[in-house]
Amino acid sequence: MSIQLNHLTHVYNEGTTFEKVALNDVTLEIQTGEFIGLIGHTGSGKSTLIQHLNGIISPSSGEILLDGENIHKDKAKLKEVRRRIGLAFQYPEYQLFEMTVYKDVAFGPTNLGLSAEQIHENVVAALNIVGIDETFYEKSPFELSGGQKRRVAIAGVLAMNPEVLILDEPTAGLDPKGRDEILAAIHKLHEERGITVILVSHSMEDVARLVDRIIVMHKGKVAMTGTPREIFSHPMELEQMGLAAPQVSYVFAKLKEKGYDVPTDIYTVEEA
Ligand code: ADP
Repeated sequence: MSIQLNHLTHVYNEGTTFEKVALNDVTLEIQTGEFIGLIGHTGSGKSTLIQHLNGIISPSSGEILLDGENIHKDKAKLKEVRRRIGLAFQYPEYQLFEMTVYKDVAFGPTNLGLSAEQIHENVVAALNIVGIDETFYEKSPFELSGGQKRRVAIAGVLAMNPEVLILDEPTAGLDPKGRDEILAAIHKLHEERGITVILVSHSMEDVARLVDRIIVMHKGKVAMTGTPREIFSHPMELEQMGLAAPQVSYVFAKLKEKGYDVPTDIYTVEEA
């Protein structure tokens, strides 16, 4: 499923003294199966952008097209969009509420009105992909570690079989082990299911490692888009947008390790 944003503008509290232009004339296209990294300083408009993609918030002007069709065409279309585009919010584990891991992951597909077998299949596949085995199925989500809770919550989105998965800072607040497990699950998901993934992240290293294409947001606009290599060869511009310079150096070192042709005068291995 291709996603197209045409001149998308979003203004919060329009017409009041608190008016804030969060997205300003954003035009971009995301192709089926792409792995996108969405980066940008706090307040640059990332969350506002992703919430438009599955219709949680509506544009002030402009349009969002899925396979060429406006998602706000009618109620049925919007419902379809919410099923096909899965969104895992920041700290999704706060939304866990069922008595068992299994029931929690089954909640979404049950509401879709699928058959019992289909629900079971979706739940098992989703938990499998995030590395949660059957010994956890009957446990309370609250008995799990932070990283496990997060993976169960993401499995809840996956169990709906979305064609696009949007993850807002999925590693926030996790220890390095929990972080690696989440990133491995996301990587596996993209490799095995070939679904479109949009990863919002503060970590330059994570996006450099995982994504095909980076979109850099700055003050409500798309400031740059390109492969990690293209984006990270503009360290000055990134710094000016508040994306920390030491991280950029670190990313260069990582890219060098991966065999990218990075000019040696713009990265320092010591910081890695
Ligand atoms: P990011 O996800 O990149 O941190 P956001 O999309 O959350 O950026 O925010 C973009 C801008 O919109 C910021 O200036 C933020 O303060 C403002 N904003 C976000 N959500 C709201 C809201 N619900 N009401 C008013 N302003 C908001």
